[in-house]
Amino acid sequence: MLSEERIEYYRNLGLKITPQRLAILEYLEKHFTAHPTAEDIYRYVKERFPSMSFATVYNTLEALKERGLVKELYIEEGKKRFDLNVQPHHHFYCTSCGRLIDLHEGVKVEISERFKNKLNILEIRVFFLGICDRCQG
Ligand SMILES: [Zn+2]
Ligand SMILES: [Zn+2]
Repeated sequence: MLSEERIEYYRNLGLKITPQRLAILEYLEKHFTAHPTAEDIYRYVKERFPSMSFATVYNTLEALKERGLVKELYIEEGKKRFDLNVQPHHHFYCTSCGRLIDLHEGVKVEISERFKNKLNILEIRVFFLGICDRCQG
């Protein structure tokens, strides 16, 4: 369950809180590093709220995105994932199990002066592809 404090936090951002939305927020906070798709969230919350529609999940994610609370990630083709961690970080994608691992440090990105002078870089996001530790074992 989300604490009253957390609920208040979302309310103060102008988010209407319904029991369905609460279930979605709970899922997201519990799976903070999972980078779920809208379908993942829908499957999970529908078990608790059989009347939950996919549109509710989708609209909630859109409302969160508008408020800067989630970020969209496009890694696999035709699949949109959501990241609740909106701090800048990079990702490692396991091509074997599909796990997406956050990389917060140890990634150095150099951009040559030639591009630096021409392009206005707003954010740097790096995706590494490979086989994760679990899949190697
Ligand atoms: Zn893996
Ligand atoms: Zn992430």
